[in-house]
Amino acid sequence: MRRRRSPRSGCFVLSACLLLLILAAPAGALAKRAVARGTGGAVASDTVQATQAGLKVLAQGGTAADAAVAVASTLGVTDPFVAGIGGGGYFVYYDAHTHRVYTIDGRETAPAADNSSMFIDPATGKPLPFATAVTSGLSVGVPGMLMTWQRAVNRWGTFTLADDLRPAELVARRGFPVTSTLREQVRENAFRFDQFSSTSALFLPHGQLPVVGSKMRNPDLARTYATIARRGAGAFYGGAIGRDVVRTVHNLPLVPGATLVPRPGAMTLADLAGYRALFRAPTHVRYRGYDVYAMAPSSSGGTTVGEALNILSNFDLAAESRVQVLHHYLEATRLAYADRNRYVGDPGYVQVPLTQLLSPDFGRQRACLINPAHALTSPLAPGDPFAGSGGCTPQQPAGAADAYPETSTNHLVVADRYGDVASYTNTIEELGGSGIVVPGRGFLLNNELTDFDFAPPSSGLPDPNLPAGGKRPRSSMSPTIVLKHRRPVLALGAAGGATIITTVLQTLINRIDLHMSLPAAVAAPRASQRNSTSTQAEPAFIAEPTTPALEQLGQTFAVTDTSPLDPSIMIAPTIGTESALELFGHGRMLAAAEPVRRGGGAAGVVHPAP
Ligand code: GLU
Repeated sequence: MRRRRSPRSGCFVLSACLLLLILAAPAGALAKRAVARGTGGAVASDTVQATQAGLKVLAQGGTAADAAVAVASTLGVTDPFVAGIGGGGYFVYYDAHTHRVYTIDGRETAPAADNSSMFIDPATGKPLPFATAVTSGLSVGVPGMLMTWQRAVNRWGTFTLADDLRPAELVARRGFPVTSTLREQVRENAFRFDQFSSTSALFLPHGQLPVVGSKMRNPDLARTYATIARRGAGAFYGGAIGRDVVRTVHNLPLVPGATLVPRPGAMTLADLAGYRALFRAPTHVRYRGYDVYAMAPSSSGGTTVGEALNILSNFDLAAESRVQVLHHYLEATRLAYADRNRYVGDPGYVQVPLTQLLSPDFGRQRACLINPAHALTSPLAPGDPFAGSGGCTPQQPAGAADAYPETSTNHLVVADRYGDVASYTNTIEELGGSGIVVPGRGFLLNNELTDFDFAPPSSGLPDPNLPAGGKRPRSSMSPTIVLKHRRPVLALGAAGGATIITTVLQTLINRIDLHMSLPAAVAAPRASQRNSTSTQAEPAFIAEPTTPALEQLGQTFAVTDTSPLDPSIMIAPTIGTESALELFGHGRMLAAAEPVRRGGGAAGVVHPAP
């Protein structure tokens, strides 16, 4: 049901009003900063233009849902390798009218014709190499992004989808300055972008990398947004844009003499017309007096962060030494990942023991395996969620370690003046997705289906994440909203593939147990243990004085091997990129973006504190 609020700006024709405001705003009015404090609404996202778009919509009286759509659609222009209507994501929303948290599952689905052997090479009977699958039509899932926006705006918006797309359309038409991060992302992808005529024309004009500081325009995407604004999301889900998507997936726009021979996909217009973004109940756990709400399966974010918090609830971290806090953090995710891989998949296709995985009893069962004097040995076996807290986990075959080192995706957070909060993680999967731009439409298609397991695991354990027609691949995206006494106090989430879960958990521990400020909690060095022999860690984490003591407990660390971007941008190999908000009551807000990772993000508020 649509709930409209009256904007207090005195504009009566909303679309015209919004347009006037956007046209009146000086370009680049918002300086890029990682932290902003104030009132009236707040945004943190990957780029200045996207944060600015969100702030403008908020200033005009838009809700957090309106602004989130403005931010996400602008990221499709300014952060095109991790965002856009060719992808999908998970939208978590606190509605101040009902004091409740809701979620929308906008994850991509496999086309109906796909099946469990879609990633098995018929010539060899073996799984396709990951890189072969990434750059292909085969890996393109039915995009859920636009349907998510439509549903969010219908439910919570003050404006229409057309209004909320307008800032992005303008940025796409007028252009924005190329950053060194964007240039480096093109450089990393240059080989495969070069294989597709549509992709190279947009991102490698005349075969050259975009020049830092030059203007990048995307008139095709501006027209695509304008078409959607005029005709609605149906233009994509069954209409002309959808037809172009289907044509592209089948007839890949390869350049003459292309050296890659990518596989086409099976998507049909019926797959697009039948796509649904789903309202789902959020996951919920209590942690130290807070209510933590997050995304239920098809993402593993809410269950894995939630289970790890339940494990940690058995220890008084605030009273522990820093070494013991980190030891418990690493052991909790080691255990929770064993369970994630065994039990979590698309609930439309596999039975996920959701209640059991999130029960405090199961947390106790898993916590009792933790030895404060010695690290567990991975890969660990999953626990039995049906055994309650009855003793330590019985031994089962060991699960597979998770070694999935992604760096893409984006997370955005928005709070509005009405008390609503949005926490939205979305992605096209790999940096650059499938590498395929839809000709004439200006956006990249995802490669989300590579998030399925290509083949059953060698452990012989059942695998809830094998492909099937219509199924959603398991995600790690963990958009989270934390309430205290039914009021939102924190909203956070991150990019970074399977490390998203550990980044969100580590930030919660930093803020709640270690009492760091939110910006410090976001900036702190990260480590990610995912039931693997050694823990992936940032160099700054390894350099901390706690590391020798952790190593004495049997923890081992390896520097994260994130792709080698320009050192001036990344500073060092990093884990994840995060955006977060803190709400202090009486309308006071703090937005925190990354200060350094992936070139740093952009935080802003409508009325900055003096
Ligand atoms: N596709 C990944 C997921 O859903 C996110 C990709 C990334 O962050 O690199 O978990």
